[in-house]
Amino acid sequence: MSWAQRAARNILPLSREKSHLAAALKEWRYEGGFHDLEAPEADCELCDHPDIRYQFEIRNLLTDARLQIGSECINRFGISATGDDGEDLDAAGTRKRVGRDRRTLVEEARKKRVITALVALSQADPEFRILAFIDYLQDRGAFTPKQLALLLWRFEKLRVPFNVRDFKLTIRRDREKVQLLDMADWQIERLLPAMSPSQREFLAAARSLASQ
Ligand SMILES: [Zn+2]
Repeated sequence: MSWAQRAARNILPLSREKSHLAAALKEWRYEGGFHDLEAPEADCELCDHPDIRYQFEIRNLLTDARLQIGSECINRFGISATGDDGEDLDAAGTRKRVGRDRRTLVEEARKKRVITALVALSQADPEFRILAFIDYLQDRGAFTPKQLALLLWRFEKLRVPFNVRDFKLTIRRDREKVQLLDMADWQIERLLPAMSPSQREFLAAARSLASQ
């Protein structure tokens, strides 16, 4: 059975249009409802594709039926998203909205993993002042070079599981750039997985200047 046949089988019984997939799909909208299952464990309720982690809800405007589907299916089946003022978006607008919502989900999941690691660290190390770090994360979404170096050291020392890629570095302020450049090479190496491409470029340029 093709993906279009599976979609027709799933969506026609819930739509007013009972025979033509393309016509039935026009009754559905993506209105911005989404959630994170935290593991890829659901099937897309439109095309049956397995291993969906981020579910996007589509709703039939005529029957009020709802399906939880993968974000790619909204674009693939040409389902319209609703804009901020409730208007129907065209294909490009829909793609943009779905992409934005998906990035929001991924970013929220990342922050949640960071907070989970910080909480585990505070349980393993009573001297760790978790609230200051969580406040910083909420404000800036990232840590300074000094903070991140300290965190990585404590995670390893106390054997708290973490993924350095979940952490982001900020060097927007001059004193944060100085912090980074003042670190030993081995320390900087450990921060690299948390750095963005432009931060790595900054670092490479500063290092090649320093070696001249
Ligand atoms: Zn699907």
